[in-house]
Amino acid sequence: MAGVIVDAAAAAAALGLLGGGMVYGSVWPTSQIFGRALIAGSDPREVALTFDDGPNDAATGELLEVLARHGVRATFFVMGDFALQRPEIVRLVHGAGHLIGNHTMSHPKLSMEPAARVRQELTGCNAVIEDITGAKVRYFRPPFGARRPVVLRIAREMGLTPVLWNVTGYDWKPIGAARILGKLEAGMARNQRRGCSSNLLMHDGGHRGMGANRMDTVRAVDRLLTAHPGDGTRFVTVDRWVEAAG
Ligand SMILES: [Zn+2]
Repeated sequence: MAGVIVDAAAAAAALGLLGGGMVYGSVWPTSQIFGRALIAGSDPREVALTFDDGPNDAATGELLEVLARHGVRATFFVMGDFALQRPEIVRLVHGAGHLIGNHTMSHPKLSMEPAARVRQELTGCNAVIEDITGAKVRYFRPPFGARRPVVLRIAREMGLTPVLWNVTGYDWKPIGAARILGKLEAGMARNQRRGCSSNLLMHDGGHRGMGANRMDTVRAVDRLLTAHPGDGTRFVTVDRWVEAAG
């Protein structure tokens, strides 16, 4: 899979997990020890906006409006529990042409869970999304980026491609829209220097409960899209990089 780009140091630093031993292997997003995951393609002009932990009635609708205004499609890794609570929002996301991926039912750290629970979390979330949208789910992002061989094996058995990221928006912290935008722009610039695409991790929800305030994320996305209207940046969904990799 030529679309996989190694950006280990940035990703590990992003997670604050520059530890040793098993921690390295199971959560370092670009570690190849426990199998491969899709991160980004090789065209530095391509940028994927990805949003985890929704649907969220406090932000997803506003985010959809911003994306529609700029004519950009994004990737949403939704939680099954929230999708069950707000199926109408998932329907809107799908109807607007965005890519929807699996982010488990309840957001456990899968590297700590037995195989049966991993299977249950992935199967359950797929079923919820497919029931709402009628479209097969093909992508999966492990909560916290945590994974181990059995997690990736189960995901692939189910036809799911694991997806990580190489730019972190830090938008789960109360740092404000300007600093979120700064993190995104810095990460995109770094990837351009390295000659790879950018896969931006953001959140339209909060895994601890429905209603998380993510309006700073929405504002940061609006400013990002306003800043890159026609300068060669192409906003893509993550499936672009699987196709590109052949
Ligand atoms: Zn998450």
